[in-house]
Amino acid sequence: MGKTNAVPATLLTRIGELVTNEGDLGSFTAIDNAALIIEDGVIAWTGPSSRAPAADSFVDVGRRAVLPGFVDSHAHLVFGGERSTEFAARMAGRPYAAGGILTTVKATRAATDVALRANLRRLVNEMRGQGTTAFECKSGYGLTVADEARGVRLAAEVTPEVTFLGAHVVPPEFTADVAGYVDLVCGPMLVACAPHARWIDVFCEDGAFGPDAARTILAAGQAAGLGGRVHGNQLGPGPGVRVAAEAGAATVDHCTYLTPGDVDAIVSSGLVATLLPSAEFSTRQPYPDARRLLDAGATVALATDCNPGSSFTSSMSFCIALAVREMRMTTEEAVWAATAGGARALRRTDIGHLGAGARADLILLDAPSHSYLAYRPGVPLIAAVWQGGNLVSGSP
Ligand SMILES: [Zn+2]
Repeated sequence: MGKTNAVPATLLTRIGELVTNEGDLGSFTAIDNAALIIEDGVIAWTGPSSRAPAADSFVDVGRRAVLPGFVDSHAHLVFGGERSTEFAARMAGRPYAAGGILTTVKATRAATDVALRANLRRLVNEMRGQGTTAFECKSGYGLTVADEARGVRLAAEVTPEVTFLGAHVVPPEFTADVAGYVDLVCGPMLVACAPHARWIDVFCEDGAFGPDAARTILAAGQAAGLGGRVHGNQLGPGPGVRVAAEAGAATVDHCTYLTPGDVDAIVSSGLVATLLPSAEFSTRQPYPDARRLLDAGATVALATDCNPGSSFTSSMSFCIALAVREMRMTTEEAVWAATAGGARALRRTDIGHLGAGARADLILLDAPSHSYLAYRPGVPLIAAVWQGGNLVSGSP
C-alpha cells in the first residue's frame, strides 16, 4: 500500500451517506457525499469528499452508504445442538417457557470442545459477514463449574466482551436446592469464570432467579471485578429493572414488560435498555414499547439475543427492520441503537461511531441510505465490512 508516516493509509470517497453517530441519540449524523480516512486501524478523518486530505490509496464507494459496524451487545453463542422442533411446535401454538433452555444445557454438556468451538466460529463468521464488528458472548448453557468455565474460555477466544451467565436457569440437579446453586455460582463457579470474563449476567425472572438471588449474584460478580448485566422483564412484569438499577449494572435486557416506575428507574440510573425484538418475533410475544423508553429519554440498544431457543438469528439488520416496523423506532434511532447503543451497553467509547479516533469498524451498504436496512428487509445489503481498518468481509 506504500504507506508512509506522513500520508493517511486509506481514503473512502464518494460516500452517499456517511453515518458517524457522533453525540447522543437524536444527533445521528449523516453526511452526504462524504469521505473517510482510515489510518492505523482507526478513523483519522471524516468530512465532505471535496475537502478530503490526500491519501496513498483510495476506494470510490459510488454513492453508497457507510455506517459504523453493528455492535451486538447480547448473544449466547456457546452451545450445542439446536431447537428447531421446539420452534415449530411453538409456532403451532405452544407457549414459550424458560425451561427450554435446559434442552440446550444437556446438548452443550454433551458436546466436545471441538464441536462447541466449531459452532461458535461458524456463528462469529456469520455475524461478521452481516456487518457485526463487535459482539458480546455469554456462557450459560453449562451450569457446572467445569462447563461454565469452558463456556467463558471459548467465548474469550472470539471476543473481549465475555459474560459469565452461570445464573441463566437453575440446573435440574439443583431444583430442590436453589440456594445451593446460588452459592455455587457466587463461589467456585465465579472463581473459575471471572478470569475469562468482563461481565456477569443474571436471568431475573419467574422460572429463573428471584430478586434476592439476583442481587447476591451481581454483588459477588462485581466484587470479583465484573460489570453487571441483567436479563429482566421479558416474560412478565418483574424486579429485573429495579435490581439492575440498584446494582449499577450497565444494561437491562429485554424490557418487554415495564411499569412507569421501571421506565423512571432506567432513565434516572443511566441503565441502557437493550431491546431484543427477534426474541419476541421468535416466541410470538408482544414487542417492547421502544417509543415509551425513547420518549422518556432512555438510552436504547438493539441486539440479536442470538441463541438456539428463543432467537436464532445473528442478523442485526433483521433486528433493525423489526424495531422500525414493529416498535415504531425511526430508521435513525434503530441504526443508532444497533451501533452506538450497543457500544453504550458495553461501556465502550471506541466502537459504535465513526468519529476521529474510533476503531475503524465500518460497513458499506449496497444501498444509498441506512434506511434500506428496514426498507428492504431480509435482503443481504452488507457489501463490505472493515474491522480495525482491515477488510474482513465482502469487497468495496
Ligand atoms: Zn439472552
